[in-house]
Amino acid sequence: MSLMCRNNHTAHMSHVLKNQIEGCGIAACLIDIDATITTNRTAPQMDPGYIMNNAIFDVIAQFMYEQGWEYNAVADAFAGHEKSNTYWDYPDFLKALDLPEEEVWNRIVRWHNEHIVSYKDAVSMVKRLHVAGIPLFIVSNNPLSGCLLKLQSAGLAGPNDSPYFREILGTNVCMGGKWSLEFWQRCMDRTGYEPGQLAVIGDNPREDCTLPRSLGVETVFLVDRKRERRFEKTPEAFMVNTLDCVPEILLPTFRPHAPMQKESEKPRLAGLV
Ligand SMILES: [Mg+2]
Repeated sequence: MSLMCRNNHTAHMSHVLKNQIEGCGIAACLIDIDATITTNRTAPQMDPGYIMNNAIFDVIAQFMYEQGWEYNAVADAFAGHEKSNTYWDYPDFLKALDLPEEEVWNRIVRWHNEHIVSYKDAVSMVKRLHVAGIPLFIVSNNPLSGCLLKLQSAGLAGPNDSPYFREILGTNVCMGGKWSLEFWQRCMDRTGYEPGQLAVIGDNPREDCTLPRSLGVETVFLVDRKRERRFEKTPEAFMVNTLDCVPEILLPTFRPHAPMQKESEKPRLAGLV
């Protein structure tokens, strides 16, 4: 596609979005991490071959084996702590099992440096949206420290926070995962914006599109970098093969807003599963 043609197409898409949101305006974005901002260099992080199905727990377990722990004792210790702490974060395990936190944490950071890579289009999108003043939130199936480790690999965070995101809504922050409507509702409540003011940016058609749409989100960008077409508007989402499209389409519709309501003032949705 020529640059002029692409610009015309982008302007058209932005116009489509403007009509769609009918004057409400996008005020903030909720952004996924896995397969949207970062991915695994080789082996997946989640796999039944790992203890607790998660490579990070394998890193912790490896340290414990070196200290003389047996496999079954490690597995029982992890399972026992998970049972007592449903919405856990990785440091919780280090504390509960009385492991030397700094030493084990350095290994976890090293695993991320070796295995996690970021997508250039995602990093650039985050920076462009941030510079434009759009409040950004992470919504992720990682716990808070897992989010920070991945964002750190992408150069979008330090060890304790990120200058780019207003809040990082991980599994232990909003208690659940993106497969749950209740979790999405809590995340959206936490932003303080109305669903129609939020754009969701992710890769998973169900978790990043169907569920938030069912709670009133109207604007969704789904990235699939293997797609042939740069972008395409479906009734559900903007399908894009690069996140470079997002600022192009979104920025002309950006309307700065203060958050509408505090979480405590919002009515709770009943009966969600
Ligand atoms: Mg994802």
